[in-house]
Amino acid sequence: EIYLDNSATTKPCAEAVEACVNAMTKTYGNPSSLHDVGFAAEKCIKEAKKQIAAALKCDVSEIVFTSGATESNNLALVGAAQAKIRRGKTIVISAVEHPSVLETVHALAQQGFTVKTVQPQSDGTFSAQSFADAVDSDTTLVSCMMVNNETGLLLPIAEIAAAVKAKKPDVLVHTDAVQAFLKLPIRFPALSVDLMSISGHKVYAPKGIGALIVKKGVRLIPQITGGGQQNGVRSGTEPVPMIAAFGAAVAAQRTKLSARIAHYEALSKRLRDAFSQNEDVSFRSGDACVPYIVSLSVFGVRSETMLHFLEQKGIYVSSGSACAKGAHSHVMDALGVDRMTADETLRISFSPETTEEMIDTLVSAILEGEQTLAKQRVRG
Ligand code: PMP
Repeated sequence: EIYLDNSATTKPCAEAVEACVNAMTKTYGNPSSLHDVGFAAEKCIKEAKKQIAAALKCDVSEIVFTSGATESNNLALVGAAQAKIRRGKTIVISAVEHPSVLETVHALAQQGFTVKTVQPQSDGTFSAQSFADAVDSDTTLVSCMMVNNETGLLLPIAEIAAAVKAKKPDVLVHTDAVQAFLKLPIRFPALSVDLMSISGHKVYAPKGIGALIVKKGVRLIPQITGGGQQNGVRSGTEPVPMIAAFGAAVAAQRTKLSARIAHYEALSKRLRDAFSQNEDVSFRSGDACVPYIVSLSVFGVRSETMLHFLEQKGIYVSSGSACAKGAHSHVMDALGVDRMTADETLRISFSPETTEEMIDTLVSAILEGEQTLAKQRVRG
């Protein structure tokens, strides 16, 4: 099995599985209980918070656990928009956000908020200034992802936050850092953002756990109300096993970042080089994209057809984005990729276990697929 769909999800690491099982078998208490069994569970959460805070250089008190980045994005956007409603009702986002941001601001728009969408420049990259330009006196919130999940495009979030705050200091800035966390060096305080979403299952923890990092002093209106857990920001008994697994996965990887980046760069180069003489295979620009997500299009072969061809050989990739399954990609549209080419786009995403041999196998399989699968269009 050659699994090259790590941006869709990852296989939990041994450390995460062990921590999860321990929390289910040993520290099974309710962290809110006043006795020892509850206290042990609470300690488990504190340990996970320390592990995550160490990776992001944030404070433990800034971490709010959620059911995943979809919930983190909902809490950040709706919670901040509602908290700031007396100051204004305009939200600025990028054109390439994940559906969990897009659909959430869409719902806010139906409730009377104004949503402004920042488009990329003609070369497909985003300028920080364009976000500042979109901010007006009614703007209370800017949301921009760090790395796009479909193409690997890196967005200049630190510059965006600085430009936005230079224009209007009280605007809250949120970033969806799901595809960047533990892959790029991120220091939460250095980005001058107020809110950051991360997800467990993209970093070798299980699905169903995530976090929102909330800068000290930033107030959000809770979206899940109840027993007042997590300082009332997100009620519900904390899923201790998932939290423990998340913490353990983060701790296991935190120090390996730079070696991994070098590994991903080598893999990405190998893949790109293999097709450098093949005019039927085109790549999204390498300069603007992270090395662990490679977006490529095979001329005349629909990505779904190629995906299943590769699947028969035990190679697993994504067509565009797993999240946009079936639907047309708003990301490709925004980046100016024509619809034919967008339909021929594969997303290859690496893990530390991906080897050069796997890339070579993928390359041969794509070449074979390109020759075998009937061409559905002629070059115009
Ligand atoms: N944002 C981005 C950029 C993502 O790639 C994903 C996962 N596809 C999410 C948010 C949603 O994360 P989760 O699956 O944890 O809800």
